[in-house]
Amino acid sequence: MKVTDHIENAKGNPLFSFEILPPLKGQNVQSTFDNIDPLMEFKPPFIDVTYHREEYVFKQLENGLLKKQVVKKRPGTVGICAAIQNKYGIDAVPHILCGGFTKEDTENFLIDLDFLGIDNVMALRGDAVKSETYFKPEKDGHQFASELTSQIQNLNNGIYLDEELQNSSKTDFCIGVAGYPEKHMEAPSIDSDIHFLKKKIKNGATYIVTQMFFDNQKYFDFVDKCRLEGITVPIIPGLKPIATKKQLNLIPHRFKVDLPDDLIMGIVECKDNIAVRNVGIEWCINQSKELLKKGVPVLHYYSMGKSSNIHQIAKSVF
Ligand code: FAD
Repeated sequence: MKVTDHIENAKGNPLFSFEILPPLKGQNVQSTFDNIDPLMEFKPPFIDVTYHREEYVFKQLENGLLKKQVVKKRPGTVGICAAIQNKYGIDAVPHILCGGFTKEDTENFLIDLDFLGIDNVMALRGDAVKSETYFKPEKDGHQFASELTSQIQNLNNGIYLDEELQNSSKTDFCIGVAGYPEKHMEAPSIDSDIHFLKKKIKNGATYIVTQMFFDNQKYFDFVDKCRLEGITVPIIPGLKPIATKKQLNLIPHRFKVDLPDDLIMGIVECKDNIAVRNVGIEWCINQSKELLKKGVPVLHYYSMGKSSNIHQIAKSVF
């Protein structure tokens, strides 16, 4: 079922959902199930599965020269989605990227998803590969998530890349896209970022999931701005509990989001990561409760492959 239908059917009752990563190459699918199993008691109607593009690594050869190798550390997004739908009978939402995909790759990926009975996709641009400063699309790929959204929507209308295809079947994907309460790191301003977010909706996206934030006011202001711009689709808040002291610097660096001073001080004063984890859980519970009071349709948690703190939060909130 579509994410938007889950929201509509819930009739205002807030839903619980979360995002998982496919296992690292070499791990088996059981490691993913072990993370999902404890969260099933909160009845998630859908689970997002991230997509991880290739990375370039340089290996030194015997003659001292460097050989560039392409590595995919977390393959298996589609397989994990199929496994989730099979085992739990709930909707899996694969993330799909512009990065690393030609339009032809995208079309074939979407055809596989359609054949597997997957009804939702999260359309994203992806980041630049680690060895590059700026995002570069494939030669025949998409530069922005709005273009990817258009291609998915075209397929929903039976329009394939090969215009000569006759009587082609229409897909019916529900398309989610990313939104940034503290603006995307490359956007020159929040207003321009929201302008391009609106383009993603115009091109066919029907819901937004936000980047993580730690100050609810940032989310409320973002929603207000989006509504003023005429964006009417559900805006699902994405939440991440801090779990280690290292994340105090890593999260702002990686995701370009601010942490409130009270949270920073709470973490700084912790003696070890067990204490940090508890501070992170408490903060996230408070954020979740306030968001629920304001009537958000879904609380979406970034599990980063570990579910035990999400379990503690959901137990207090749902
Ligand atoms: P876009 O919407 O294309 O925007 C990128 C930038 O370009 C923004 O600054 C925007 O303002 C600007 N822009 C957009 N259109 C135009 C235009 N026409 N002209 C000029 N500027 C424009 N990454 C992964 O690799 N795998 C994942 O599974 C994944 N999941 C994510 C899930 C969520 C909920 C979020 C919030 C992010 C996720 N990401 C993931 C990270 C995401 O890929 C990066 O944040 C990426 O840098 C931007 O993706 P986007 O889809 O928001 O890009």
